[in-house]
Amino acid sequence: MDKRYQHQDHEQEIYDLWEKSNSFNPDSDNQPAKQNKNDSKPFCILMPPPNANDPLHIGHAMFATLEDILVRYHRMLGDDTLWLPGTDHAGIETQFVFEKKLKKKGQSRFDFDRETLYQMIWDYVQENSDVAVNQLKKLGASADWSRFKFMLDKDIVKIVTQTFQELADQKLVYRDVKLVNYCTHCGTGFSELEINHKEQKSPLYYMKYGPFTLATTRPETKFGDTAIAVHPDDKRYQEYIGQEVEVEGLNGLFKLKVIADEYVDPEFGTGVVKITPAHDFNDFEVWQRHQDEIPGPKQIIDYRGHMTAEAGPYAGMYLKKARQEIVKDMQEKGLMVKIDEDYKHSIGTCYRCGTVIEPLPLPQFFIEVKPLTEKALQALDEGKVKVHGAGHDKILKHWLENLHDWNISRQIVWGIRMPVWYSTDNSNIHVVFIKNNERIEGTLKELLNLYEGKYSLDEIEKGLQELRAPVNIKYIISPTSPGENYLQETDTFDTWFSSAQWPYTTLQTGQLNDFSRFYPTNVMETGYDILPFWVMRMLMMGLNKTNDVPFKNVYLHGLIRDAKGQKMSKSKGNTINPLEKIEQYGADALRMALVIRSSAGLDKSVGDGDFKATRNFTNKLWNATRFILMSEKSETKGTGDTEYLEKLSTITQEITRQLNDFKIGLAAETLYNEFWHWFCDECIEKSKAGEISQSTLIKGLITFLKLLHPFIPFVTESIWQTLQKEGFVDKKDSGLLIVSNWPH
Ligand SMILES: [Zn+2]
Repeated sequence: MDKRYQHQDHEQEIYDLWEKSNSFNPDSDNQPAKQNKNDSKPFCILMPPPNANDPLHIGHAMFATLEDILVRYHRMLGDDTLWLPGTDHAGIETQFVFEKKLKKKGQSRFDFDRETLYQMIWDYVQENSDVAVNQLKKLGASADWSRFKFMLDKDIVKIVTQTFQELADQKLVYRDVKLVNYCTHCGTGFSELEINHKEQKSPLYYMKYGPFTLATTRPETKFGDTAIAVHPDDKRYQEYIGQEVEVEGLNGLFKLKVIADEYVDPEFGTGVVKITPAHDFNDFEVWQRHQDEIPGPKQIIDYRGHMTAEAGPYAGMYLKKARQEIVKDMQEKGLMVKIDEDYKHSIGTCYRCGTVIEPLPLPQFFIEVKPLTEKALQALDEGKVKVHGAGHDKILKHWLENLHDWNISRQIVWGIRMPVWYSTDNSNIHVVFIKNNERIEGTLKELLNLYEGKYSLDEIEKGLQELRAPVNIKYIISPTSPGENYLQETDTFDTWFSSAQWPYTTLQTGQLNDFSRFYPTNVMETGYDILPFWVMRMLMMGLNKTNDVPFKNVYLHGLIRDAKGQKMSKSKGNTINPLEKIEQYGADALRMALVIRSSAGLDKSVGDGDFKATRNFTNKLWNATRFILMSEKSETKGTGDTEYLEKLSTITQEITRQLNDFKIGLAAETLYNEFWHWFCDECIEKSKAGEISQSTLIKGLITFLKLLHPFIPFVTESIWQTLQKEGFVDKKDSGLLIVSNWPH
């Protein structure tokens, strides 16, 4: 054995050894499960698919380590074990990165039709598709790469679109104009969960509004006002309720009705608010309650962030500019009473680009979630799914009980295009298309040669960028065109709509029988931060599609924080690049540092001190082995042998129990302490004194190698190979440590 363990000399070689022996594949003959004949239980984990072309961050290293530990443990235990890997197209994330590349070349997505843009992103993702996979291999991930899936594989897309059809057949799909959190920069709607809310200073304007003074943060939306509201019990304004009042605006006089609604806070400002249903979520709801009394949404901000024609003299102006101009003009007209510059309130910004999110009315597809959440809640109540993660089971229930209908439309090209078709008989469909590098926008009535336009349907379809169909339009769901004169919806499914189907799409499109063999899977392991985005939706969709839960256990890991306990972020410069740490300390040291003393659902701090400590641990293991192999061989039974073997058995039972109970961080800690303080400090010393025989000591070493293998697979396998060459490994265990039998 080399004097020191140099991880650089071993890790690649060991990984190749595992791959060449096909040890990650449950169908391989070398699997411990094959010795169990037909007796083995299935054990399956689906890898949370990372973004296909994104380098790994420390969170990926955490999930890969935890899952690999469970998978290696169950493989050795003799379970029929599959860890199914894959990557996600990561819709908006990937398109965003790609658009930044375009920007460098002076281009934008508005320069391309959607088919061309899709193909460009596809090629870009293919070029980089190995990034995540190669890095996972460096971590030691023992996933069955032969079963690798990509979210946009044809067979997966087919199931995802079929599911949409099935949901429609269940009458759970509907179209509605709803306000959407819209980023005018990214050109797409977002779910509430994707918005960053930040407390910010933003002036509060007190303006004259008919007989009232009212306070608003958004004077520019006044062109979209359709009512004035007060609290029903507010004594100051009783005489106005139900009346129409005349308001002097920048565009002349107009009339608005005063309504009473409990939403109005009499303590805020003057107790009078303007109602702008097209551009405020609360106002939209107020309008819904008073539909018989007041007009509906009047859109004054368009989808690119400009004022619409409804804004009169300000039409075409960017929102920010419009606000400045409007405030200035109101001051000149004496309509501005005062401005509170120090007012602070919560502003939603796009989590991708930081642009202020605009609530905008957009026709969208929604899924009615109640029937799905009910099934999920029932499954949780019946204990069909167990959540390991410091109280996150309650959080999951809370999400399920309060989930709003799911907006599944996204206005991006990088994703699964909705299999929805509209007949061109409806001339109000709004299209945007590219012809000869020119961007042409308008309704079919204006543009199509069947009507008053000069473009053929073929031209429009070929150059199509975007389509907005009226909310109440008839549509056909079909994977291919239902006939001539149809245009396909340009929206794609929300990324979570496809990833929510990952458990059955991957297993139904894999090897024959994979679905019946491995579904429901055993563990879904992921970060608690995506519990509502992903875990909850998998549960809902899995139950609805298969009548069974997609997984029996959910293990949630926490965030990895820096050594001082601070959240890692690029801007703070305190992120840890897992590849650098692998280079520096070895994959084993990184893995062990991440999991030791970690606890489901709780955040964990790591820093260089931890990596050094765990690297010392791998060195300790190596040096102890070297010492034992070099010490004198003796077969004579030592006086301490029996006690030693009993303690060894106790440790084995303890680790097994801890792993069965998902106490992974505790198991790592137990092993660290027992190996270092008991085996090395006590037992090796006793063996020097002849109290424990060398052959018995080696039995202990072999047990520790097995128990430690899931945690630090590279160094344990390296040592195992040496022990084997030297003839210390039992015949039934010969070969690779990865497929040896778990001790008992
Ligand atoms: Zn954005």
